[in-house]
Amino acid sequence: MLSKLCELLFPSVPGVAVVAVSTDGEAIRIEARCTPAGAACPDCARWTERVHSSYLRFPADLPAAGRRAQLALRVRRFFCPATACGRRTFVEQVPRLTRRHDRVTERLRQTMSAIGLALAGRAGARLSQVMGITTSRTTLLRRVMDLPDPAATQPRAVGVDDFALRRGHVYGTVVIDAETHQVLDLLPERDAATLALWLAAHPGIEVVCRDRAGAYAEAADTAAPQALQVADRFHLWQNLASAVEKTVAGHRSCLRDLPPPAPEPEPAWETPVAAASGEDTEPDDPTGRFAERARAHHALVHDLLAQGVGLRHIARHLGWGRHTVQRYARAARWQDMVKGRKRQLPSKLDPFKT
Ligand SMILES: [Zn+2]
Repeated sequence: MLSKLCELLFPSVPGVAVVAVSTDGEAIRIEARCTPAGAACPDCARWTERVHSSYLRFPADLPAAGRRAQLALRVRRFFCPATACGRRTFVEQVPRLTRRHDRVTERLRQTMSAIGLALAGRAGARLSQVMGITTSRTTLLRRVMDLPDPAATQPRAVGVDDFALRRGHVYGTVVIDAETHQVLDLLPERDAATLALWLAAHPGIEVVCRDRAGAYAEAADTAAPQALQVADRFHLWQNLASAVEKTVAGHRSCLRDLPPPAPEPEPAWETPVAAASGEDTEPDDPTGRFAERARAHHALVHDLLAQGVGLRHIARHLGWGRHTVQRYARAARWQDMVKGRKRQLPSKLDPFKT
């Protein structure tokens, strides 16, 4: 019966025998002991069967049948037989079950790493609680950081872009393997010198995908002159989209001059540039995407101000720049945020526009 239980509870752990299983209704307690006659010293590897003493370890284990599981594992302390060895005694470990000074079993540790990888700290801790695993968000993050780094591969094509460590203030550079889409490195700055150092340390790069700003181009030119530089798809689409939007908005007056066959619906993409185009006075209640956003943001900021929240805190809370918050705070009405945002200035091209 007990050997069957042992197969059931520790299928991939040789060298351990179940002595008894009991439950107090909430938790399952599994009493077990080690079966080998002796153990090898961790320092000198000499085998010994001379037992010094024994005691119980209580590593937390994976929940079983929806209940918390507690292992009560009797381990022995052995004398090291080698007189030259610096270690006099040592405690046996069960491979694939325990490690020195660890209060969880290997399989619980692996499960926690997996939860941490999938959900990170807070969400992972919430799920763990549901699953009957007692842990904290910091422990989950530590489990993830304990994992060995994946083996470094020599990338052929890399994508580089900047990312915000603190939006509007501190930016770093993320380097991605363009073939596997794995993050290769995070660099603390977004200047040419930082990326150049990284590229110099990784010879053999054939393609650098980048945005069209100068810094990364300069880094690639100096540190990886052999590499083909490619404007990455995201930035091409982004630039194209903003160019199209600007052009269409700039030509909105052309659309207005056409005799409309039916009442013209307001396009959703209307921007303040369009709203203000060619008019000396602007409508009192502008419409369109920017106006909607201005109305919502204005309400939000003034709501927080009314609650006595300071500008600095509002900025941090919303993840905006402090100046943006300040402009909303100074505007008495949301319409003031839209008015006069961008007026169309007279241009030499005006006579030819039609
Ligand atoms: Zn030894």
